[in-house]
Amino acid sequence: MVPVVQLYARNVPDLVFPAGTDLLQILWCPLVHEDDQYAANPRLYWRSSALIAAGATAGEPPRPHTAEGDYLPRPCTVSPTPAVEYPNWDLPEGLGELLDERFEALKDERGYDYFEVATTQQSKVGGYPGWTQPPDWPDCAGCGTRMEHLLSVTATEPGMGRWLPLDDRDPRQDGDATPSWRAEADPGALVAFGHGMDLGDLGGMYFFVCRICPDTPYTHRYDC
Ligand SMILES: [Zn+2]
Ligand SMILES: [Zn+2]
Repeated sequence: MVPVVQLYARNVPDLVFPAGTDLLQILWCPLVHEDDQYAANPRLYWRSSALIAAGATAGEPPRPHTAEGDYLPRPCTVSPTPAVEYPNWDLPEGLGELLDERFEALKDERGYDYFEVATTQQSKVGGYPGWTQPPDWPDCAGCGTRMEHLLSVTATEPGMGRWLPLDDRDPRQDGDATPSWRAEADPGALVAFGHGMDLGDLGGMYFFVCRICPDTPYTHRYDC
């Protein structure tokens, strides 16, 4: 198993942790599995950092002797940035078509696209799953309720546009004069951008939880 996501409660204040936990870890087996998802096989753990620290061992993290490169992340950090997200694939049926004219007008008037500025396919906690294919929301195996989107790990970390962290902007661009959706990354920062996984054909792994059932069961979906 390789570590993929590690989030502390203090860094993501809007993420609800189960009682007694303050650390979320996702690991996965970085091989292609011949199950219905045909991808890496993840495990999700809610932990208490106090208990982890007590038994911590220092040293190199274990590396798999064999792995599919698409699912093997390079070490990187996250800089959580709160944002309000609007639905992309999850727009209610027919609403996209109804709004299409307004989206076009918006683009003509202001120069930006709804999908560029209001939705995001970057890795994220909360919001909408970063689907690259039509939605496939899971129902909880225990209670049958539609599960809650917990987080998405997506291949798409574009080095430009609305969601580019301010710190990573190209200093040669005039920050005040450049609208956020035209922002470009510092070429130096781009080299170290993101986890480096292609996740198939630039897809994503989406995690869901049920907060009604005991022990917060989870499941995942994958598309590419
Ligand atoms: Zn495996
Ligand atoms: Zn449930």
